[in-house]
Amino acid sequence: MFLEIIEKISDEIIKNEEYLTELDREIGDGDHGVNLARGFTEIKNQLVNFKDLPVSDVYTKMGMILLTKVGGASGALYGTAFMSAGTFLKGKTEFDNQVLLGTLNSMIEGIQRRGKAVLGEKTMLDTVIPTYDFLKKSFDDGKTLKDIKDEVIEVAKNSMEGTKDIIATKGRASYLGERSIGHIDPGAVSSYLMIKVVCESIF
Ligand code: ADP
Ligand code: MG
Ligand code: MG
Repeated sequence: MFLEIIEKISDEIIKNEEYLTELDREIGDGDHGVNLARGFTEIKNQLVNFKDLPVSDVYTKMGMILLTKVGGASGALYGTAFMSAGTFLKGKTEFDNQVLLGTLNSMIEGIQRRGKAVLGEKTMLDTVIPTYDFLKKSFDDGKTLKDIKDEVIEVAKNSMEGTKDIIATKGRASYLGERSIGHIDPGAVSSYLMIKVVCESIF
């Protein structure tokens, strides 16, 4: 099931290649979709080799593929995120709520270690951090992922759409300054697509 989710994430990114690239054309250099589609096509090609690996190794290998194949800021950032999750998951065999939170947290830490961005700079983090916060609060309140998966998608979507109103202060879009306002951040959309697929695939 884990590998099926990865396949679905890959298909979703590949399906949205043109849209992601179009968004990046508005405030960047027009390659976000092309970059990610290249990486996730390679991940799909490698899926057969992941069959007998522990989950942690799959994350690490995905991270290495994204680092080497995607290029650009997002290759380094998503690559680091998945490698970082691989390290966190090493030796874990139970995948409960706390491990899910820990995985997401390690990905955020990886992105921040590499890219030095914080919440509100118009990046992928503006989708991922609010989603993490919502998940954490919901689990603290005793809810299960099954109860809240639609809300998680909603939070991720609203957060992604919220990047439209923010000035970019990191990445290429920051060169535009105030002119970056009015455009959704491409990385925020790719992160949203991944979160959406995971939530839709779980139950
Ligand atoms: P590049 O800008 O090198 O062409 P991409 O177009 O593939 O790379 O990716 C751009 C996306 O990367 C942005 O939309 C943004 O979400 C994300 N990004 C850029 N810089 C950072 C950063 N420092 N921290 C987090 N995300 C970032
Ligand atoms: Mg780009
Ligand atoms: Mg580029």
